[in-house]
Amino acid sequence: MLIAGNWKMNKTASEAAEFCSTLKHRLSGIGGDVDVAVFPPFTSLAAAVRTLAETEIAVGAQNVHWEAEGAFTGEISAAMLRELGVYATLVGHSERRQYCGETDETLARRAATALESGLFVIACVGELEWEREAGETEAVLRRQVSVLSEDDRLVIAYEPVWAIGTGKTATPDQAREAHEVIKSLLDVPVLYGGSVTPGNADDLLGQPGVDGALVGGASLDLESFAGICETASRIP
Ligand code: PEP
Repeated sequence: MLIAGNWKMNKTASEAAEFCSTLKHRLSGIGGDVDVAVFPPFTSLAAAVRTLAETEIAVGAQNVHWEAEGAFTGEISAAMLRELGVYATLVGHSERRQYCGETDETLARRAATALESGLFVIACVGELEWEREAGETEAVLRRQVSVLSEDDRLVIAYEPVWAIGTGKTATPDQAREAHEVIKSLLDVPVLYGGSVTPGNADDLLGQPGVDGALVGGASLDLESFAGICETASRIP
């Protein structure tokens, strides 16, 4: 089971160092089969990598460019992340699709380059609210997943867009059904994301086919994030 914390545009470098320092002590005795990773903003990656060195907690980025280098102002390459000690990257988060013009095609290019460079990739997919209401969830997931290829370092996060940062969560049945669709297309671990909290983690993570969680808001609070990690560690 993997619990990944997406910090979005939160926590400066000094805040990241303080958070990671407390987190590593808080989780030092965690048993069970749980991997933990945090995904700070670019400017806080170095502080997080430094603070979490020699722990089992991994550090990932929130995005990566598909080109190796060049005239791409404002972008970050996979090699830049690797040199920093970053082990993974998110691609295609719904906020990037919504605000930054991310498409299935750009997601695919980012994922391919990142995987080739040795990064683990968490590729985010999920339907909009109207798509679910129109009965199109499965078709949307099939389209979004179709641009990806199986890889040992690929993980998919199923994040129904209507559940991200809204306090609404998919029911355990909705999550299980979506994960089944994704797993029928690609044999990779699938995380659930969308308003996961310590209060609902047990139900969601206990579903067959749910291999962990991508946690946004609740990953910013140490007790909430640690609580979700502890819940995951108790799931057989
Ligand atoms: C996310 O940003 O990936 C996410 C799932 O956010 P939240 O947990 O706040 O809904």
